[in-house]
Amino acid sequence: MVEEIPQQYRTYHRNKTVTVMFLILLVFAVLMGRLVYLMIFRSEYYSMKARELHERERSIKAARGRIIDANGKILADNKTVCTISVIHSQVTDAEQVIGVLCRELGLSEEYVRKRVEKNSSIEKIKSNVDKSVGDVVREYDLAGVKVDEDYKRYYPYDSLGSKVLGFTGGDNQGIIGLEVIYEDYLRGEAGTILTVTDAAGVEVVEAGEERVEPVAGRDLYISMDMNIQSYATQLALQTMETKEADSVSILVMNPQNGEILAMVNVPEFHLNDPYTLPDTVDSEGVSGERAQELLNGMWRNGCINDTYEPGSTFKIITAAAGLESGAVKPEDTFQCPGYIMVGDRRIRCHKAGGHGAETFVQGTMNSCKRRFT
Ligand SMILES: [Zn+2]
Repeated sequence: MVEEIPQQYRTYHRNKTVTVMFLILLVFAVLMGRLVYLMIFRSEYYSMKARELHERERSIKAARGRIIDANGKILADNKTVCTISVIHSQVTDAEQVIGVLCRELGLSEEYVRKRVEKNSSIEKIKSNVDKSVGDVVREYDLAGVKVDEDYKRYYPYDSLGSKVLGFTGGDNQGIIGLEVIYEDYLRGEAGTILTVTDAAGVEVVEAGEERVEPVAGRDLYISMDMNIQSYATQLALQTMETKEADSVSILVMNPQNGEILAMVNVPEFHLNDPYTLPDTVDSEGVSGERAQELLNGMWRNGCINDTYEPGSTFKIITAAAGLESGAVKPEDTFQCPGYIMVGDRRIRCHKAGGHGAETFVQGTMNSCKRRFT
């Protein structure tokens, strides 16, 4: 006969089982919750972390479109330069890397060491390095050192037409002038180089480099004629000297269609060195806002930004129109009282007291302020 399990033990067993089951369920629930949190709510963060760990991305600058004058002369061009970067986790001989980069790039050891030893995915050491120097660094074939070619803006005529053409900044973006107005056309699209690495950050050689090629910007053809621009600049410089003027502007247009053939604003500045103020400007110890103000002044295109009363430059047009329409004849006589009322303003003739009676020709010669009635 099988002895029956006493009542109290049975209850005890059942309670224990339920408790264990409950605990297991609780643990699962917590784990499920955590999984949901990681897989759904934090998925973006962790995929990014994984990508960062396995891929090293470097951008390739696009060749910026050139600026070309009416005769096909290149006014803004690109020079091939190199950007040198270090991928910390791929460096095998840090001391050698630091030594070579200091020597070849002319940088201080402290500066290079800080960047080579920094535990980041990729660290830029120097950009706009001459291609010849970049080639030398590449020859060393150092693990973890990347030499990428990109472009730097170069202006063959340097200061000629500087305020019209404008220049570009560190990322090859237009800062002033045509360079900024036509930025969308000139810029092009940057490409990327993708390197796949293993968990330790070592480049997976078999995976190779995946390249998205950059798209070059479009060329800009302008009506400016560098021959005329050059003559007009010489003339403006001569005038500035003889008249002891602070600045002289000359604008040459084709009267048939309004094309601008030359736009000169002397003193011009050096497009290949646009942040250096001329010696004539007292910039000793100037910085911040004041320095920016001085630079803006140097870059300012007076032809399109400043106003100048038409005055004597325009009297030829009104006089010619009057003669052509028959409203006046050269021998018509007028009286100059020395001023004219325009609205509520009294505009004076340059001769106080007036020129008295004079013909149309004499009045035009004297720039008289009097009404032709
Ligand atoms: Zn007068």
